Amino acid sequence: MAVQQNRVTRSKRNMRRSHDSLTAVSSNECPNCGELKLPHHVCGSCGYYAGREVVNVAQDLDLDDDS
Ligand SMILES: [Zn+2]
Repeated sequence: MAVQQNRVTRSKRNMRRSHDSLTAVSSNECPNCGELKLPHHVCGSCGYYAGREVVNVAQDLDLDDDS
């Protein structure tokens, strides 16, 4: 097993960790349906991108119906 030879100082440790922070996921409002969507991605609720429908999203599909 490798064992470190020198102690890492608080300064060096914190310098290494200065790039570790996470950023929040950005989101835009879909101009077609108003749902929040990821930028540069097809809208997940209506299937539109750049003003036209590119994915056919089934609207009346009810997966929770047990009957
Ligand atoms: Zn949409």
